Amino acid sequence: MHYDIVIIGAGPAGASAGIFAARAKKNVLILDEDNSGTKKAWIDNHYAVMGMTGYDVFETGKKQAEKFGAKLLTTKVLNLVPVADDCSEQDKAAQEGTAGRFRLTTEDGVFDASIVMMASGSSKELAKSLDMKMKKGSEPGTGMVIDVDAEGRTSIPGIWAAGLCTGSSMHVAVTAGDGARTAIHILSEMNGKRHVDHDMMC
Ligand SMILES: Cc1cc2nc3c(=O)[nH]c(=O)nc-3n(C[C@H](O)[C@H](O)[C@H](O)COP(=O)(O)OP(=O)(O)OC[C@H]3O[C@@H](n4cnc5c(N)ncnc54)[C@H](O)[C@@H]3O)c2cc1C
Repeated sequence: MHYDIVIIGAGPAGASAGIFAARAKKNVLILDEDNSGTKKAWIDNHYAVMGMTGYDVFETGKKQAEKFGAKLLTTKVLNLVPVADDCSEQDKAAQEGTAGRFRLTTEDGVFDASIVMMASGSSKELAKSLDMKMKKGSEPGTGMVIDVDAEGRTSIPGIWAAGLCTGSSMHVAVTAGDGARTAIHILSEMNGKRHVDHDMMC
């Protein structure tokens, strides 16, 4: 199955990006192995949220992305490869009508994506397996993180990243914002014009 955007991780960064991408009518798949550190938190420092369990933040974020049409699958992404690098895969995908720039193998199936967004929290194995450019994180205990440009692009064209895996922050308010911000840049690039998502009360 081919998706416009596949997001790896449904924590604050990934679900927030999924909300923006799904609202923009993109065909979005969020893959999450249900291992978010956020679920263990008590969130008392998020703007306009008067205290909430991290579990509720995590579950509500996923439901909100689904509400706007994102598909969510609880599974581990085992492998991510650029399809363009593999001619036999490219031919097969073209025949199947699933051609995309990336192929993700999970515990529950194989998916193709035009764009991949990594929002994998403390897990950076996939990025390392792709030889993605990494850098030393500045947050305590984060180790090496994915090196992204100011808009969220990794060193591999078509793969973007946001949240804790990029070392943006160890705080939900910031990682959720980082996911949204990166999604806006992805959508602006995909659509060829600056993406704005505003609703009005009336
Ligand atoms: C105990 C604890 C307390 C905290 N308290 C606070 C607090 O009070 N206030 C605050 O602001 N922040 C707090 N935080 C920090 C906050 O939860 C995180 O720093 C931040 O929100 C991370 O968001 P994220 O979306 O980048 O990553 P995460 O929430 O970690 O989400 C990453 C997701 O990626 C998925 N994933 C990773 N690899 C794969 C793969 N290969 N395939 C599929 N899925 C994958 C994981 O399952 C996970 O759900 C706390 C964290 C912890 C652990």
